[in-house]
Amino acid sequence: MTRKVKNIGVLTSGGDAPGMNAAIRSVVRSCTYYNLQCFGIHKGYEGLIEGDIRELNARSVRNIINKGGTFLKSARSQEFRTPEGRKKAYDNLVKYGIDGLVVIGGDGSFTGALKLSEEYGFPVVGIPGTIDNDINGTDYTIGYDTALNTVVDAIDKIRDTASSHNRLFLIEVMGRDAGDIALNAGIGAGAEEILIPEEDMGVDRLIESLKRSKKSGKTSSIIVVAEGDKSGKNIFELGEYVEEHLKGYEVRVSVLGHIQRGGAPSCYDRVLASKLGVGAVEALLAGKTEVMIGVVHKNITEVPLRTALEKKKYKHDKLIKVADITSI
Ligand code: ATP
Repeated sequence: MTRKVKNIGVLTSGGDAPGMNAAIRSVVRSCTYYNLQCFGIHKGYEGLIEGDIRELNARSVRNIINKGGTFLKSARSQEFRTPEGRKKAYDNLVKYGIDGLVVIGGDGSFTGALKLSEEYGFPVVGIPGTIDNDINGTDYTIGYDTALNTVVDAIDKIRDTASSHNRLFLIEVMGRDAGDIALNAGIGAGAEEILIPEEDMGVDRLIESLKRSKKSGKTSSIIVVAEGDKSGKNIFELGEYVEEHLKGYEVRVSVLGHIQRGGAPSCYDRVLASKLGVGAVEALLAGKTEVMIGVVHKNITEVPLRTALEKKKYKHDKLIKVADITSI
C-alpha cells in the first residue's frame, strides 16, 4: 500500500538552466492546489545535507516565472556522493517531515536521487533541467529552448561582423556530448558548417567543404562547433588549422560560454517547466517514485529514472541533411 504524501521537498541541482524557477513555482503551487506542504531546499543536495530548508507557499514564488537561474540556488555536492552524506540528507528530510522529493536537474542529480530512494526507500521524482537536452526519455529538457534562442541571437550578431570583414568564425556552443544545440542553432542561424559529436566529419572534409563554399561566392562563413565535437582538436587548434589550409579568410574563434545558461526563459521553457512541475507533484501523490516527468510528442510522460539515465539515442540524420542542403 502506498503512503499518502503530505510534505514535498523541491531542489535544483547541477548546472542551472533557464526555466528552473518556473518549475519550482509550478511544484510549489501544485502543492498548494493539492493541500500539501512544500519545502524549498537551498543549494541542491548541499543544502539538504546542511538542513538549509524553508517552507514555501504560493506567494513565495511570485515574480519568478520570468527569471533565469534558480532562486533556490544550485550546487554540486561531493558529500552527497558518499553514504554518510546521504544519511545526513535523509535525516534532514525526516526532521522536516518531508515524504517526497522533487529533484530538478540533470543525470548526476537523478543518480543521486536514485541512491536516496534505493538506500532509504525515499520517494523521488525527477524533472529534467539542463540546457544540453541530453536526458533520455524526454524530447526536451527545461532550458534547452532558451539556450537555443540565446545561441542563435549571438551567432546573428557575430555574422554581422563576419560579413563586414570577410571573416570565418568558429563558434563553440555548449551541449557537452550532445550536438542538439549546435545542430539546431546552426540551422537556425544559417551556419555554413556544423560540427557535432554524433557525426565526426573530419577536418579535411571540413576544409574541402569550406573551399567549395568560397568558390560558390561566399565571402564569410560561420562554423558552429559543439563543445563535445570529436575532431580531435580544440576550437583554437581547429581555428589555426583552418587558417593554415584555407587562404583568403581571417579566422576568428568565439566561445559563447556561460551566456548560454542565462537569461529569461523562453515561453516554451516556462510552459514546459509548468507542465513538468504539475506532473511531478501528481506523480508523487499517485504513489510513484524513481520516475522522471518528461515530454514525448507533446505529451507529459513518466519514465523510470533508470531509463532517463541511459544514453540518449539521437536521430539527427534528417536534420543533418537539412543543414547540408540549406547551407549550399
Ligand atoms: P548538469 O547536466 O547541469 O551537469 P547534473 O545533475 O548532471 O546537471 P552533476 O554535477 O553531475 O550535475 O550532479 C549534481 C549533483 O548530484 C552532484 O553534485 C552530486 O551531489 C549528485 N550526484 C551526482 N552523481 C552522483 C552519484 N553517483 N551518487 C550520488 N550523488 C551524485
